Amino acid sequence: MRPVFECAQCGHCCHGVATVSLTPEEQTRVAEFLGLTKEELFQKYLIYNGNRVEMKIVDGHCIFYGKDNLCKIHPVKPFHCRRWPLHPSILNDENAWLAIKADCPGFRKDATYEEVVTLICSRSFLNVTCPFDLLVEQYLDTVLESRLNLEIGLNGGILDKFSVQDFERVNDILKKNDLKVTIHGPFTDLPLGSVNSSIREAVVNILKKAIDITRIFGSKTMVIHTGFDPKHHGEYEKAWGERAKESLFELIDHANQKAPNVKLLIENTFEYDPRLHEDIFAAFAQEAVGFCFDLAHQVVFSKCSMDEWLSSCGDRLMELHLHDNHGKSDEHLAVGRGRLDFDSLFKWLKEHKKLPILTIEAHNEDAVMPAIRAVSNLLKKYLNTSLK
Ligand code: SF4
Ligand code: SF4
Repeated sequence: MRPVFECAQCGHCCHGVATVSLTPEEQTRVAEFLGLTKEELFQKYLIYNGNRVEMKIVDGHCIFYGKDNLCKIHPVKPFHCRRWPLHPSILNDENAWLAIKADCPGFRKDATYEEVVTLICSRSFLNVTCPFDLLVEQYLDTVLESRLNLEIGLNGGILDKFSVQDFERVNDILKKNDLKVTIHGPFTDLPLGSVNSSIREAVVNILKKAIDITRIFGSKTMVIHTGFDPKHHGEYEKAWGERAKESLFELIDHANQKAPNVKLLIENTFEYDPRLHEDIFAAFAQEAVGFCFDLAHQVVFSKCSMDEWLSSCGDRLMELHLHDNHGKSDEHLAVGRGRLDFDSLFKWLKEHKKLPILTIEAHNEDAVMPAIRAVSNLLKKYLNTSLK
């Protein structure tokens, strides 16, 4: 069956009386691509429309529109061009899709509104988790074909098994296909607050290496766990937390030197309550450390409610890990296949005007599409997509 959308390269959307706007970064990229200075780019190709910088219109079409119907700056064309016609406004308004569809022959004739909503969400709002080894050995073709943005996992010896060149090669492939990547750092056996200094040193070194890989993928975030286990560390939680903060100082220092744009997102895992996270967030600036909330972990491992976690740490919220369970074990099911209350979570996002990174963490290939559909429905129901 034809995909829901496949550009027919008719060029219709490059015609009109105005074009999309370009950010300053996009202007720089286009200038570099054309081998021009920014002043030359402005002189030849750009124009102010009020405060917006747009591309000039020539003969009723964008100045970069070629006779072959193709874009002359395709590799660096503005974000709005790359995203078109899958515009988030469609999520809030079926009529917006019908209007766009009437002008764009790229949509499959019998595509349904639900299919288009799912496609927009998976392209614009969602990541799907995939460990790097499985990506390379099994799923890369599927990911490219389905155009899935990824949260690449580096857990379980992946940093030992693959070279920097392996990561660079995969990054090149994903970038060429315009796919976005975030990183989940390694976490098994990595207690940030270990009482043994040599273990703590090893933990920090492993995570520093992961920050270097995060930079390769151009990800602005790396999710990490604290490694705190209340069953074993609970008695000396305070001292454990102090050592964890020392480890984080070293990691943030490393990120500042080697990967200045990378922010560490601390996920909740086995912690019974948000005290350790609160303590960490109080010690580090918002720019350096954020929060990744995992509702499924909160339900299975924590003794506090979702509301307590979000009222304590919600101001640092930058990412959600989305998977389901039946309340007893960490099953990593597709959202909607367990009994977790995702409606309340998305209502909270709506009330607080937050649109964090949304990562599907279903640990089964067959659960990915149902999870994408379920989260797309939540996005459509609760989120004001103009936030993006
Ligand atoms: S109008 Fe639709 S099919 Fe035609 S070039 Fe634009 S996006 Fe592609
Ligand atoms: S930059 Fe390229 S894709 Fe965008 S409107 Fe111009 S010709 Fe079309």
